[in-house]
Amino acid sequence: MSLFNLPPQIEIPVNGETDTYPVRRIFCVGRNYADHAREMGQEPDLEAPFYFTKTPSALCMTGSTIPYAPGTKDFHYEMELVVALGGPAFRTTREEAEKAVFAYGCGLDMTRRDRQQDGKDKRRPWDLGKDFEDSAVIAPLTRAKDFGAIKNQNITLKVNDIPRQTATLDQLLHDVPAVIAHLSGYYHLGPGDLIYTGTPAGVGPVAVNDRLIGTIDGLDSILLTIGSPE
Ligand code: MN
Repeated sequence: MSLFNLPPQIEIPVNGETDTYPVRRIFCVGRNYADHAREMGQEPDLEAPFYFTKTPSALCMTGSTIPYAPGTKDFHYEMELVVALGGPAFRTTREEAEKAVFAYGCGLDMTRRDRQQDGKDKRRPWDLGKDFEDSAVIAPLTRAKDFGAIKNQNITLKVNDIPRQTATLDQLLHDVPAVIAHLSGYYHLGPGDLIYTGTPAGVGPVAVNDRLIGTIDGLDSILLTIGSPE
């Protein structure tokens, strides 16, 4: 028996499956599109990806209305391709890394941009900017075999029907096999590990009552509504 009852952990629906995908860890890649790196005031780093993490308690399903996040006056969207792993990967090659991919999905890496900037300015961690409740929004997953190869699929985000982010997946600086291979040098990756692969240019603030719709060709789109602050 546990001493306390915790909220149930979100599991993600998978297209064509009755069973759901359980989440163990959430890794996120920073500045993985050149134009987004530049809009954040950095030159793209082609040497190696870098990461931050979110706790699984940050997960939020598509279709939700979430409160405007506490502790920020600059709450931002970041539309991203999410990779869900289904096989082990430790110190793996690109070729082996691809075999570890189970599915893909649309995700939103919701960000307290002001708190992230504090972290950068003060050389402190990004947790308050990145890892908080409802900050890891996810849509139902599509198995990798059904999605096919990652090529020039469009990735878009609209806020209140106005296009804000438009790119193609071949613009990822570090592609999916490269990210998995690199990250597998540091973790025993495996089932339950999600990787948010980074956002294209065009990030920006949200306001109460905004309606966000993100799309990636071949995947279920993602929808989020911003509610009043608590
Ligand atoms: Mn991001």
